Amino acid sequence: VKEHGRNSYRFFLPEMGGMALDKLDMEGNLRRALENDELVPYYQPKVNIATGRIVGAEALVRWRHPKIGVVSPNEFIPLAEETGLILPIGEQMLYQVCRQIRAWDEAGLPRIPVAVNISARQFRQDDLAQRIRRAIEESGLDPARLELELTESMVMHDADGAVGTLRELRLMGLQLSLDDFGTGYSNLTYLKRFPINTLKIDRSFVSDLTTNPDDAAIAAAVVAMSHQLGLTVVAEGVESEEQLQLLAANGCDQYQGFLFSRPVPAEDFEKLLRRDLE
Ligand code: C2E
Ligand code: CA
Ligand code: CA
Ligand code: CA
Repeated sequence: VKEHGRNSYRFFLPEMGGMALDKLDMEGNLRRALENDELVPYYQPKVNIATGRIVGAEALVRWRHPKIGVVSPNEFIPLAEETGLILPIGEQMLYQVCRQIRAWDEAGLPRIPVAVNISARQFRQDDLAQRIRRAIEESGLDPARLELELTESMVMHDADGAVGTLRELRLMGLQLSLDDFGTGYSNLTYLKRFPINTLKIDRSFVSDLTTNPDDAAIAAAVVAMSHQLGLTVVAEGVESEEQLQLLAANGCDQYQGFLFSRPVPAEDFEKLLRRDLE
């Protein structure tokens, strides 16, 4: 889907010659997708750099459109944010992921934590914690199995308010991860006060790691600082063996990226987990 001018979106499907939709159509389609359960989580492994084993996963929403095929979140999350549809979408993702974790447990697979992305709008909801508690209880899940990824800009926007929300979520037993670290403005004083478990180095630093000494220096500094604060560090968007070697040399704990696996449907993720058990 490409944005055409102000109000027109175009599903970019060469076979169909492109299907032009205005914003309202697009919103209607997204609403229908939500009702028809076309929005599903794909899962990308988080891998321990030292052992090469899968130690977690990130759930990433995909729109399985009956005609168009799989639509990436970059094509509809901005509109969902704008219209507020991100709230029911985020909620549905949460329930689907909780149920999936439970199903994997029952199948005897390794009990790894799975992360969901929380949008700015969700984070601002007064009853966010209760909503998450309900999803966890409905699936009978150990809260420690669920991780929330919150972006740096989201929590720094109202850092004082965020500390309270984060505390409440941590007290429930959830894992918290600071996403896209390095892309926004971070007050390092707050970083110390945020009760988070993990920090994710943004892909933009990882992509130039092997060619740009500045990015390599930043990555090394972020790893050292995170460890001082007792945080686990995850590098996102690792595509090459060279990047992985550099991250390993700098003591980075985990990585995600196409080098290991793209985000895949639940059935395929399950296969990756089983392969890892052998
Ligand atoms: P993000 O949370 O930073 O997710 C990481 C993105 O990097 C994902 O894109 C993932 O597929 C991609 N990625 C992973 N490894 C590599 C790699 O090696 N190379 C490259 N080039 N890319 C890699 P995706 O799935 O298209 O999601 C894009 C963004 O959409 C996410 O960025 C997140 O901000 C948002 N998003 C996705 N799912 C959800 C969701 O369920 N809720 C909310 N609120 N936002 C979501
Ligand atoms: Ca994320
Ligand atoms: Ca990220
Ligand atoms: Ca990112």
